[in-house]
Amino acid sequence: MSTLTVVGSIAFDAVETQTGKRDRLLGGSAVHFSLASSFFADTRVVGPVGDDFGEEEFAVLHARGVHTADVERVPGGRTFYWAGRYERDVNIRTTLQTDLNVFEHFEPKLSEDSLNAEVLFLGNIQPSLQIAVREQCAGARFTALDSMNLWIDIAHSDLLRAISMVDCVLLNDGEVKQLTDEPNLVRAARAVLDLGPSVVVAKQGEYGAAMFTRAGFFGLPAYPTENVIDPTGAGDSFAGGFVGYLAAHADQGEFSEATLRRALAYGSAVASFNVEAFGTERMQTLTPDEITTRVSELTHITRFEDAPIPLRA
Ligand code: AMP
Repeated sequence: MSTLTVVGSIAFDAVETQTGKRDRLLGGSAVHFSLASSFFADTRVVGPVGDDFGEEEFAVLHARGVHTADVERVPGGRTFYWAGRYERDVNIRTTLQTDLNVFEHFEPKLSEDSLNAEVLFLGNIQPSLQIAVREQCAGARFTALDSMNLWIDIAHSDLLRAISMVDCVLLNDGEVKQLTDEPNLVRAARAVLDLGPSVVVAKQGEYGAAMFTRAGFFGLPAYPTENVIDPTGAGDSFAGGFVGYLAAHADQGEFSEATLRRALAYGSAVASFNVEAFGTERMQTLTPDEITTRVSELTHITRFEDAPIPLRA
């Protein structure tokens, strides 16, 4: 199995949606990402937690085979905390609180195993930390990065530097536009490619995702799930499916267009499961067969083939 290291937030999330409210869910960009990528690659998580992070939380990661030796427990510290609320239109999210806690003084120190991973994912966290990890993983064959509006606002130049150091950037489409101050998504994605990466993925929530390379573009709708309970982590589990699938196909020395397209389908499929329950609950029961079924539905439109629409006489 190919190897993948992810650095990002490991969190307790408080989430309010139209269907319910939870005060303390296991979350964070690295957690959602690694549960998703664990279906495709041998995944190691790097990040700090506080004393409040216990065996129960580790067990969720271990059950999916995720390695946690580089999860650093900070004595006397509290785990990163995020609280957010979703409107009836789940594409609209308000951040109610962000407490960096143990992330404030975190200095990533990667073990040999994490440093030697073939693929590196820099999940959403301070860009200065993303840079520190990228510099340590000099030998990675493919590197990707995610970020968010907060860092575009308060750490813009660090984020541009981090982006210039990776092969692939995944952002929400609004963030791609905000980052580049360019209202047209195609031009905005080109501007990100001009910073150095060779792949830009613009995530579009329930509408899917668009992928840009210097050679062209490709778009895929989201898997049409009726059952959106908690959208938190959709972006990270999308990234986990996408980058994880690429990691599993990194032995060819290059990514073909077909591989990149398929990776997008895997990302969409995994993300569609993640939103079907609060926090990481759905990822804990997910099976590889379920993922494969949704990927083939996304790429072959099987339901239409099974039931053609008759024309009127
Ligand atoms: P997503 O819904 O994929 O955009 O990601 C949601 C996850 O991002 C949650 O589990 C949060 O814990 C985490 N998160 C939210 N804000 C931040 C932040 N400023 N830095 C790092 N992680 C964050």
